[in-house]
Amino acid sequence: MADPKKLYIKTYGCQMNVYDSERMAEALGGSGYVETSTPDDADMILLNTCHIREKAAEKVYSELGRFKGLKAEKPDLKIGVAGCVAQAEGEEIMRRQPMVDLVVGPQSYHRLPEKEDQVRGGKKALDTDFPAEDKFEVLRKRPKAARGPTAFLTVQEGCDKFCAFCVVPYTRGAEVSRPAERVLAEARELVERGVREITLLGQNVNAYHGEGPAGPNGAGGDWSLARLIWALAEVDGLERIRFTTSHPNDMDNDLIEAHGTCDKLMPYLHLPVQSGSDKVLKAMNRKHTAKSYLRLIERIRAARPDILISGDFIVGFPGETEADFADTMALVEAVRYGQCYSFKYSTRPGTPAAERAQVDESVKADRLARLQALLTDQQRAIQDAMVGQTVKVLFEREGRMPGQMAGKSDHLHAVHVVGEGIGIGDLTPVRITQSGPNSLSGVKAA
Ligand code: SAM
Ligand code: SF4
Repeated sequence: MADPKKLYIKTYGCQMNVYDSERMAEALGGSGYVETSTPDDADMILLNTCHIREKAAEKVYSELGRFKGLKAEKPDLKIGVAGCVAQAEGEEIMRRQPMVDLVVGPQSYHRLPEKEDQVRGGKKALDTDFPAEDKFEVLRKRPKAARGPTAFLTVQEGCDKFCAFCVVPYTRGAEVSRPAERVLAEARELVERGVREITLLGQNVNAYHGEGPAGPNGAGGDWSLARLIWALAEVDGLERIRFTTSHPNDMDNDLIEAHGTCDKLMPYLHLPVQSGSDKVLKAMNRKHTAKSYLRLIERIRAARPDILISGDFIVGFPGETEADFADTMALVEAVRYGQCYSFKYSTRPGTPAAERAQVDESVKADRLARLQALLTDQQRAIQDAMVGQTVKVLFEREGRMPGQMAGKSDHLHAVHVVGEGIGIGDLTPVRITQSGPNSLSGVKAA
């Protein structure tokens, strides 16, 4: 039998890209590829790219430049660009880097095997269509091999919200939800392979409205995310359910209630607000106010008092004044975030905000530093308060120190434990003894 061909995938950006990379590797597995962790011995290199902020495309071009030598040594090496930069730049990528053989957008991954055939035959392949067929259905058959205890599962893709700063509606297309039956089938397959925690993914995951299973009377009607979570909670062997990323306007009552009543739904919610200023939120086309967001957080905390709230912020959006930024700081003070991502506004060609008068880079940098200092203090205080508590940890891998195991708590804190008797995939109570800069440590509780 011929040696398998080797595939090296480098993934940039969000968790949806991590999921997509796995599915691409599985799709190419059918064409005789196994994954390798280094580009040096690869027969195919795929860059799964992100376009959310500026310089992403430039990073891809410079990364491609680094493969020039490899391609010269090994003319059979095939190089592909996937993801949102592929979608946004298309043919331009092959024009600027003629050594690229394959450009494939996020909606066309199910066609990878046929594109691979094409490039092996010496042709170039470009596919940035939004095809009518369901790529997940074509990709569905996942191999039966064992895998780690946690997995991502994409249930919804694309976005119809058109925030004035964001490229997602252009690169990922319109919002689509996968039928509930297919999500449940994929979840069951993952559990059979050893998965105990699933994170449901979507650009607006809480806007999920997938077709429900047909009942005795015919069509099943649309299911909400809450309904899908309750059905997943019935899957034996699945212990933890998470979802990300949510939009404040799609947090319905059933989902809030599920946080209080569904034991398998973890007490962690990523709920980006972007800004605390109503003027900026309006200019961003977010369609919510600071007050409505704060009221929502209150309702969520009433349902699940210990929930850890995480979020996203953009500073220096066009038109943001010092007073607007002060409103953002006040909102952060009011919420108290346990985790947060914050960015300087970055112009994205083709989005409405790119055309507006821009805030000075030095002002953006100064505001980001102040915001991050506050967020870091909050995160640290919430993490430090875990010391002395006993938390459940799902162990995912060995740690860097001898005998150390690493996992995540219900609240998604990274936890390290040194000691005998813990295996990967164990869900074990741990007494927290120490809080470090980015993680907790503890001992196995009796
Ligand atoms: N759908 C999610 C929501 O509405 O909150 C967010 C998805 S987006 C992939 C992730 C984050 O990237 C956003 O929440 C936003 O904070 C950030 N982001 C998006 N476009 C950006 C831009 N042009 N400049 C800076 N940050 C941006
Ligand atoms: Fe982008 Fe999220 Fe706004 Fe959609 S809701 S446009 S994904 S930031």
